Amino acid sequence: RVRRGLGLPPAPEPAPGLRYAAELKIDGLAVSLTYERGRLVQGATRGDGTTGEDVTPNLRTIEAIPDRLTEPVTADVRGEVFMPKSEFARINAEREELGLPLYANPRNSGAGSLRQKDPAVTASRLLSAWFYQLLEEPPAVDRQSAALDRLARLGLPVNSDREPGLDIEGVMAFTERWREARHDLPYETDGVVVKVDRFDHQQRLGMVSRAPRWAIAYKFPPEQVETVVEDIVPYVGRTGTLTPVAHLRPVKVAGSTVARATLHNLDEVRRKDIRVGDTVVLQKAGDVIPEVVRSLADRRTGGEQAFEMPAACPVCGTSIVRDEGTVRHYCPNPSCPARVGQEFAHFAGRGGMDIEGAGWKVLVQLIQRGMLKRRGDFYRLTIQDLESLDRFARKSAENLYEAIQRSRRRPLGRVLNALGIPQVGETTAIDLARWATVNVPPGDDWLRRVSAFLREIATAASERFEEVEGVGPTVTGSLARFFSDPATADVLEDLADAGVEPEAPALAAATGEGPLTGKTVVVTGTLPGFSRQEAEEAVRAAGGKPAASVSRKTDYVVAGEGAGSKLAKAQELGIPVLDEDGFRRLLAGKGSEGG
Ligand code: ZN
Repeated sequence: RVRRGLGLPPAPEPAPGLRYAAELKIDGLAVSLTYERGRLVQGATRGDGTTGEDVTPNLRTIEAIPDRLTEPVTADVRGEVFMPKSEFARINAEREELGLPLYANPRNSGAGSLRQKDPAVTASRLLSAWFYQLLEEPPAVDRQSAALDRLARLGLPVNSDREPGLDIEGVMAFTERWREARHDLPYETDGVVVKVDRFDHQQRLGMVSRAPRWAIAYKFPPEQVETVVEDIVPYVGRTGTLTPVAHLRPVKVAGSTVARATLHNLDEVRRKDIRVGDTVVLQKAGDVIPEVVRSLADRRTGGEQAFEMPAACPVCGTSIVRDEGTVRHYCPNPSCPARVGQEFAHFAGRGGMDIEGAGWKVLVQLIQRGMLKRRGDFYRLTIQDLESLDRFARKSAENLYEAIQRSRRRPLGRVLNALGIPQVGETTAIDLARWATVNVPPGDDWLRRVSAFLREIATAASERFEEVEGVGPTVTGSLARFFSDPATADVLEDLADAGVEPEAPALAAATGEGPLTGKTVVVTGTLPGFSRQEAEEAVRAAGGKPAASVSRKTDYVVAGEGAGSKLAKAQELGIPVLDEDGFRRLLAGKGSEGG
């Protein structure tokens, strides 16, 4: 088709001027960055290719994206933001433990991470990017392969496997080379994009509807293999969740040998009808996580056995509970040994207090020696205590001690996430922290005041948890159970006693970035929950600008009791008017809908 379009003789006649660029296709989120004189000024998702969301602050948190190019050029560059396989696996493991729906592939989780309202959430996840399109006036290069080289020279991440224009055999060889090798890459690629190299050729070929005639994508077929389920074993996780795991006859798939695959929960086992002894089809979800696709019922011999959840915890023997309306079975015993160890590991882990060096082996020893009974005990450990652990010397004990001290000040969202609230993941924990900060101003004894506030909401007004971004009735129930439990209050009290002092989230940070960035808000009348000064502080803390009078430049008017002429003016100008609830939602980043 390309040869026809360019008036070249059909293959296999030689066409030496016709060259292609072949690039691995990254199934990420398309983004467009604008650099002015070498500085990143704006970044947006591309949406349908023309309009998109401005996600500049989020993009700035991605290490692979340079704030400054190596030359002071003004250009738009396009590429994909994606989540590396390892990060995808980490986040999904955490979501499974919490009983949250899993991300189907790194694309979905990467896109979700980039669209977060709070750049802190994006920053807490390891995203990467690469670029393949350069738009500058006048163009500095005349072909795609040279554009890729130029992007790399400017300091942008580009696929390193590229050549100065391939013939069609070269394209085939490139595709063949990556069919297997792609499994060794740290990120997911599902195909190859082939482009006609020369821009003048591209221009002559043009577009048909919205698709260019000069580019085409080739998708690798998903690799599926067959194996046998030798056993299905329930594992007890941190929150007590029982996860059925298929033990498989080891088999090689997508670059590695797989012997186990999570079956997620009992409903999933039933839906796919997977039995012990079954021959099953296996693939890797998002090229990372082994997934049993289906069982092959016609291969059954009659000896296969259906899986049942055990009635008692396989570790401590406590009766297993099933939450109403969810797929989760769990061991309710808070001191179940399987739970305790993993709870501490989660508390000290990357999404929590992030104590470097507090790995599984260290935690097990601390627990066995009775040095770690409560979470606050981390902060009571001395260098001598740590030095007494196996394979610890003075230096390693000091390092771990320092890491523990550093973790006393973590953002509130991380501290809440470290608690391991059922059905609450990292994102919701950060949103919960933002909301708590709106309601409980930071200052002396903040953790204790936040704890008292959450307990009060949980016991007296739990429906208010729905003010938190993304929280619906199910999570509200979970938050209410968790924060009304005296054990939770004890944990927070213990952490406060031990000297944990969380940092307030971005809401109150000096960056001025927040849900109200660039917005002007007028507060009028009396609000039961805020003095005038507090309301204005809250607007400022959320990145907005409080103003005294209503004009066309006003974005929102918050009207309380006795609001008069300013309210009338707002109505006249068609400016959105919010009550106190609407104001709180706005501060929490939930927009003004329904206010
Ligand atoms: Zn148990």
